[in-house]
Amino acid sequence: MNDPKQNWQAIQNRIREYEITYHRKPHSVTLLVVTKGQPVEQLERLFNLGQTAFGESYLQEALPKIAALSAKKIEWHFIGPIQSNKTKKIAECFQWVHSVDDKRILKRLSDARPVDLPALNICLQVKLSKEATKSGVDSAELTDLADYAMTLPRLKLRGLMTIPAPETAFVDQCIPFKQLHALLSQLNENNRGLDTLSMGMSDDMEAAIAEGATLVRIGTAIFSS
Ligand SMILES: *Cc1c(COP(=O)(O)O)cnc(C)c1O
Repeated sequence: MNDPKQNWQAIQNRIREYEITYHRKPHSVTLLVVTKGQPVEQLERLFNLGQTAFGESYLQEALPKIAALSAKKIEWHFIGPIQSNKTKKIAECFQWVHSVDDKRILKRLSDARPVDLPALNICLQVKLSKEATKSGVDSAELTDLADYAMTLPRLKLRGLMTIPAPETAFVDQCIPFKQLHALLSQLNENNRGLDTLSMGMSDDMEAAIAEGATLVRIGTAIFSS
């Protein structure tokens, strides 16, 4: 188990550097550390360095980690595919869900969100490139889904998320991120007040920040040796 400290620090430094390069406000980009497949000790190490936002993709894997770290002030983000029988636990144990593309799931999350907790933060997952993933709402249906999400009392719609098809060239990586940013701007023309663009992973983080990401989801670049 390698110590993620140096990689984590290097990623934080790169984020701050890209904020300057691409004329982003200082600290306008948040690092979400993606810890799927990582043991709870690794999360603890990063928490002790000051990392407080963690992303998990699989509920069964996440629940024991959340329980083990329940005394710490951690913000848990669910970023994986959501089956309807998992919505209750997700609504109870996470503060954010990034991967919703369907009204039925939105309704179930709102219904299950405990009343003593703040509204559950939601990003709608948008499908922008055909090959990338089966998940995500088509951009043509996005406005309808966003309006529906905003009617649900226990949800707070925060923004959009996407997982583009892998591209190696920087200019190609930028295309879907620019599209997602444009979709968020369109939604905000009608005062929806959305503030989150969840985009960029280990291999395309720079392009995502260049195009306006407010939250990057990074796993491999932190945990690989
Ligand atoms: C695993 C995962 C990530 C992290 O990807 P890396 O390439 O390891 O940085 C980000 N977002 C989602 C939705 C993931 O499932």
